[in-house]
Amino acid sequence: MHHPIVTENRQICVYYGEDLARYGFGHGHPFGPDRLDAFWQEVQRQGLDHAACVCPPAMADETSIGRFHTADYIARVKAQSATGEGFLDYGDTPAFPGVYEAASTVVGTSLDAVKRIMDGECRRALVPIAGLHHARRDSAAGFCVFNDCGVAIDSLLQEHDLERVAYVDIDAHHGDGVFYAFEDNPAVIFADLHEDGHHLYPGTGHSSETGTGPARGTKLNLPMPPGADDALFLKLWSQVEDLLRRHQPQFILLQCGADSLAGDPITHMRYTRAAHAHAAERLCALADELCEGRLLAMGGGGYNRRNLAVAWSAVLDAFLHAPFGADEH
Ligand SMILES: [Zn+2]
Repeated sequence: MHHPIVTENRQICVYYGEDLARYGFGHGHPFGPDRLDAFWQEVQRQGLDHAACVCPPAMADETSIGRFHTADYIARVKAQSATGEGFLDYGDTPAFPGVYEAASTVVGTSLDAVKRIMDGECRRALVPIAGLHHARRDSAAGFCVFNDCGVAIDSLLQEHDLERVAYVDIDAHHGDGVFYAFEDNPAVIFADLHEDGHHLYPGTGHSSETGTGPARGTKLNLPMPPGADDALFLKLWSQVEDLLRRHQPQFILLQCGADSLAGDPITHMRYTRAAHAHAAERLCALADELCEGRLLAMGGGGYNRRNLAVAWSAVLDAFLHAPFGADEH
């Protein structure tokens, strides 16, 4: 596979639009539909919307969603979307009228970003309402209906013919839906720093989980104690860079959940926005070094509105201001 090296100064994209905000479980819910605007107000306050290319959301078709999810599960989401009743898992993730369209829009928006990056139209992108890393191939879980991260990875491997894709997850929760879907797949290089599963949902992501069969050694799980701060994050971060350098990905995904910042109502971590800024800056440099700059960030969790606004803005700011290097020669 040869991908042309693009030499012009490509755009930094951020996605914003009413259809993307709609993915939420009602006002007053931790994952409410007000999360996108909480982020956007901060983007505007910092003037980042003038520097980035603002792109509209897109809805995924069933074929694309079916690259990751089972046909039975897609049909079930569709049916419950029509009635708006019941749960899509064992009780965390309720159906609501239009949930199929809302969840398909999250997937479609992440896929639009993948396509723009692969086409060389855009260099780095951020989809704020995305990174729904708990959904399994055949089920919803933990506020996640369709796993846009998983669909993006399967699309990069199957549709764009990449051989190695990296997924880095700094959300407080373990990205179990991504991890177990690709646990035995050596094409997916996986690194996840999260609050230890003994103290937080979903209870997985132990350091002994390094991948199975041919994928052994391609996965890195770094559980951290409750109260983990920036200093511990920075200390562990170099292991993520070592893993990526060792396996040479052709595309890097970042799930930048903001629920790992101090003051989140449902977790116990104590990062500041500096952790997210560091991850974003370092991944810009790594993407330039390893894979022609291809880097996609997905917002993930974050239930304190101020925290998600500052953490995701820090990621966008890093994407806009990191120097372009490596492939421009
Ligand atoms: Zn989370």
